[in-house]
Amino acid sequence: MTSTPAESPLALTRRARRIGRLLTETHPDAHCELDHGNPLQLAVATILSAQCTDKRVNEVTPKLFARYRTAADYAGADRAELEELIRPTGFFRNKTNSLIGLGEALVARYDGEVPGRLTDLITLPGFGRKTANVILGNAFDVPGITVDTHFQRLVRRWGLTGETDPVKIEHAIGALFPKREWTMLSHRVIFHGRRVCHARKPACGACTLAKICPSYGEGPTEPEVAVKLLKGPRAGELAAAVGLDPALVPSAAATADVP
Ligand code: SF4
Repeated sequence: MTSTPAESPLALTRRARRIGRLLTETHPDAHCELDHGNPLQLAVATILSAQCTDKRVNEVTPKLFARYRTAADYAGADRAELEELIRPTGFFRNKTNSLIGLGEALVARYDGEVPGRLTDLITLPGFGRKTANVILGNAFDVPGITVDTHFQRLVRRWGLTGETDPVKIEHAIGALFPKREWTMLSHRVIFHGRRVCHARKPACGACTLAKICPSYGEGPTEPEVAVKLLKGPRAGELAAAVGLDPALVPSAAATADVP
């Protein structure tokens, strides 16, 4: 889905903000789903989340964070022990390299602290722009747009941008919303992507955005089919929000592992 050529920039902005308001109503619980207590823990959890569900990362991090408390702890980690602790998150050898490299870089260049600037964050091992924006938005209160796979898919489905490059998407969407909204917008879009607007089989017939979404129909539109595609602990409330009986949501939806 690409933006309609006839749509003026003003009309596009208005439509984007309407989508933003609907997402705010739909996902009042939106937040960073990686458990963390400080910037270092969030940096570590974000590295572990590559190719892994946040739920799985959250199962691993309590033990990890209890064992490794500082950047110096990661820098001096016993590789085999660290690999074993993070093994359930997949790609554990690469992730171990990133975590040790992160610890070393923080100790060598930033006094062991995670820096609060994009230009510094993107130089750290295991960090890309996406990771950096997660840290900025959630650990430093600096507004940032997190262009992950869900964000990319949804903004294209909504026709908010035709860009495919994540940095261009970040700038295109950033121009449509006030800066102070960027972090929460990212969470809400990602929540919608995980719980409603799935990559395959989006729940169009049970979606609060159905009336204004140009991609309505990309997934099942029959309410009784779509309602079964809703996921997450609030799946029943998501169904009720579009006038469907929450009892139609399968009980497994609440605990489904959202990718
Ligand atoms: S109507 Fe369908 S494609 Fe559009 S946001 Fe909802 S689930 Fe996604």
